[in-house]
Amino acid sequence: MSKPVILTVDDEPQVLNAVNRDLRQHYKGEYRIIRAGSGEEALEAVRQLKQRNEMVALFLSDQRMPGMSGTQFLTEALKIYPSARKVLLTAYADTSAAIESINAIGLDYYLMKPWDPPEQHLFPVLDDLLSDWWATVPVPYDGIRVVGTQWSATCHVAKDFLARNRIPYQWLDVELSDDARHLMASYAQEHPMLPIIFLPDGEVLENPDLPTLARKVGLKTQANQPFYDLIIVGGGPAGLGAAVYGASEGLKTLLIEKEATGGQAGTSSRIENYLGFPQGLSGADLAQRATIQATRLGAEILTALNVVAIRVDDPYKYVILSNGGEIGCKALIIATGVSVRMLNVPGIEHLTGAGVYYGAALTEAANYRDQHVFVIGGANSAGQGAMFFSRYAKKVTMLVRGPALELGMSQYLVDQIAATPNIEVVTRSEVVSVQGTNKLQAVIYKNHETGETLCVESPAMFIFIGAMPHTELVKNVVEMNPTGFILTGPDLVQEGKYPKNWKLRRDPYLLETSVPGIFSAGDARAGSTKRVANAVGEGAVCVNFVHQYLKEV
Ligand SMILES: Cc1cc2nc3c(=O)[nH]c(=O)nc-3n(C[C@H](O)[C@H](O)[C@H](O)COP(=O)(O)OP(=O)(O)OC[C@H]3O[C@@H](n4cnc5c(N)ncnc54)[C@H](O)[C@@H]3O)c2cc1C
Repeated sequence: MSKPVILTVDDEPQVLNAVNRDLRQHYKGEYRIIRAGSGEEALEAVRQLKQRNEMVALFLSDQRMPGMSGTQFLTEALKIYPSARKVLLTAYADTSAAIESINAIGLDYYLMKPWDPPEQHLFPVLDDLLSDWWATVPVPYDGIRVVGTQWSATCHVAKDFLARNRIPYQWLDVELSDDARHLMASYAQEHPMLPIIFLPDGEVLENPDLPTLARKVGLKTQANQPFYDLIIVGGGPAGLGAAVYGASEGLKTLLIEKEATGGQAGTSSRIENYLGFPQGLSGADLAQRATIQATRLGAEILTALNVVAIRVDDPYKYVILSNGGEIGCKALIIATGVSVRMLNVPGIEHLTGAGVYYGAALTEAANYRDQHVFVIGGANSAGQGAMFFSRYAKKVTMLVRGPALELGMSQYLVDQIAATPNIEVVTRSEVVSVQGTNKLQAVIYKNHETGETLCVESPAMFIFIGAMPHTELVKNVVEMNPTGFILTGPDLVQEGKYPKNWKLRRDPYLLETSVPGIFSAGDARAGSTKRVANAVGEGAVCVNFVHQYLKEV
């Protein structure tokens, strides 16, 4: 944390120099003394200090200045630094203005010019004010600050991105926090797009896109080389598993992830069935460990980069990125997983991110403390979500289409839910619409058991209703089943016939697609078991086949 600031303002250079000389002599060990030649210049300095999250202990301003007077400057500066101590430098003629300021802005003191000797007329006064300031000032957070509103989809995306990438930040809601409003005021734009992200080095990002945000917070977004032995698309458990084995076995390995490493598993509040963790572990913890492990073993990981297509120039493959870049490789693993299916009911589209969330939006849970929230879905991910939100919410209602939770959920979760008094499970029910103008206000659902349609007020609904594979990038490249999952190995050989365009004399390897040298692992692969351990295992096994393939080319 840098030293707190004392800011002096005077339009007369000689007075400004004199006051600075005296302040430096007495305070320079503990404070940073900065100066400005006018109220306007000082105000700009104050805005920049706020953006860098620096502490300001004291404003010492001349009263009589052309343009902005001392009182006017202090009035504006206090909107940004309300707890800074404020002192006016006045001449005899200005005493009445200073006295008015005591009432108008709570002026702490006015000093008569000249203040000689400073040991008698300046330092004792300022020492008192500064020690008083130290006793009351909150130490500012010196990391990344995100300013926005809870009901904004773009704010949710930025918070979720930072949280899932395990980047610490402080959330400041402009509707709830004075500090957030002061910070906004320090940012000169009139109607800024939210969120506004204040970085510790003073840089300010207004509603940045994810690649920009990723780069600015220190994530890697640019590959070191144009060509690799192995590229893995997708940084979930399957991709990370492949990266660990690929890199540790000497392959020049690049992993490209469009959001955050950890994939779906990274959003899980507690994974209880992963080997070796008897107490369970959070998805974020697993993602963190695996990402560090893959990097330590030499894999390069790029974040916030979307692979939009694959180009094959036999035997080489090229991934085409959303930023237009292209990176080549000898072997490619598609480990792009799945994402939650969208719920298509009236009113939902404009509320997504403003009370309606897909998947386990863990970052939002604390915002709904003591409120009634809904979880839609009856599989394990919905069960875990309900358990997690029940720690914060007054009540969690789970709407499940089937007749019983047991049909789609592991028994340990069914038991946990049954033992949690603030979770209500409504079976044979489905959402028919949602209400709210800027934010979710009510969920309307039909209970097929009773035939009733109910409208229940609620600020949040978390949706977990099945999955869609992320396989658009290989749509016309590899063979897929009718629901878009990638076919591999034995699934490609139908009645003894190889897939279309297959020119090799061998069968496709177990996890190889219909293009030699392109493999698939994890949830995106047709027939995979949708589990963390399975995804990790498939990622590792893929690397074994990559080695075999590389011997052929
Ligand atoms: C909330 C929740 C809780 C769960 N709990 C458990 C549990 O307790 N136990 C268990 O065994 N399983 C659990 N699962 C299932 C498990 O998380 C998945 O089976 C596993 O994550 C699948 O891993 P994957 O690597 O195949 O895919 P994913 O985890 O889906 O990862 C795929 C990754 O690829 C990225 N990607 C997609 N397309 C692109 C592209 N074009 N370019 C770049 N990157 C791309 C995605 O952003 C994502 O990060 C849970 C799932 C959820 C949603």
